[in-house]
Amino acid sequence: MPAQLIDGKEVAASILNELKVRIEKLQSKGITPGLAAVLIGDDPASATYVKAKAKACKKLGLYSEVIKEPATLTQEELVRIVHKLNEDDKIHGILVQSPLPEHIDELSVTLNIKPDKDVDGFHPFNVGMMLIGRPSLLPCTPHGIIKLLAYYNIDPSGKEVVVVGRSNIVGKPVAVMLAQKAEMANATVTIAHSRTKNLPEVTRRADILIAAIGSPQVIHADMVKEGAVVIDVGVNRVEDANTKKGYRLVGDVDFEECVEKASYITPVPGGVGPMTIAMLMSNTVTASETQNVFHKV
Ligand code: NAP
Repeated sequence: MPAQLIDGKEVAASILNELKVRIEKLQSKGITPGLAAVLIGDDPASATYVKAKAKACKKLGLYSEVIKEPATLTQEELVRIVHKLNEDDKIHGILVQSPLPEHIDELSVTLNIKPDKDVDGFHPFNVGMMLIGRPSLLPCTPHGIIKLLAYYNIDPSGKEVVVVGRSNIVGKPVAVMLAQKAEMANATVTIAHSRTKNLPEVTRRADILIAAIGSPQVIHADMVKEGAVVIDVGVNRVEDANTKKGYRLVGDVDFEECVEKASYITPVPGGVGPMTIAMLMSNTVTASETQNVFHKV
């Protein structure tokens, strides 16, 4: 029997719906959560992501600002923009859309964002708090994956999880989150990567397999255990002359093959992707709540 689809759009909609009560409560106190996105250069994919984030804010009634800068922006100028946003009371969340031009040091920019406005959850303060299992702004995509599992009552406790990919934004944080001694965690986690020997042998151990690789259709059916839950984070463009744009989006998982073997599977698009934006909205609301409680003390 084919796997049940994990519908990221449905889960994201339910998360956004739950946020409405919290937003109304803030608004009743005269506070509108605000998100600022800094977009540098003219990468079309980055522009699309930022537009989607601004649109999500508008739909929820959040305040949003998009600051567009040319690719020639210097490190100092970017840091100055970030500092200004740090001090702006209308802005509760700041994100600097990646990829950044090569001359900009991404870590240094992240370090300049106030940790309580770091709605991407990339600041080392938030990363450290996440690692020690304390409340923090969590990175959106990994947190979205946990929410997808929770919605479908897939409890990772005691399960073998294999995460393929060890990036700082997806692979490593989702592995840490799933290994925590906490609800929707307690998994036995393996992190695989490009140097992993015999990847199929490792991935076949997984009750929950998370692919965050960034290459089209690396995970085939023979790499998946019968009945496993497959979460595909990848978003890859592959040429397709039959489409208007000349390409289509595929994941890191060969969906057609793996849907026949998994118990649950995320599609691409429509799986993890919508969750990233939903969790960004959630972090913006959380940041707004935290900053306003703090200000009252
Ligand atoms: P990344 O920084 O490029 O990391 C990719 C990881 O995959 C690396 O750890 C790499 O290993 C590993 N890898 C590459 N080829 C491999 C192979 N053949 N076998 C095993 N491991 C391999 O990518 P990322 O930022 O984590 O993103 C991963 C994918 O998720 C991308 O397609 C990205 O577009 C997508 N993404 C989607 C969302 C969303 O909202 N849906 C959000 C973020 C990212 P090494 O470390 O050894 O190089």
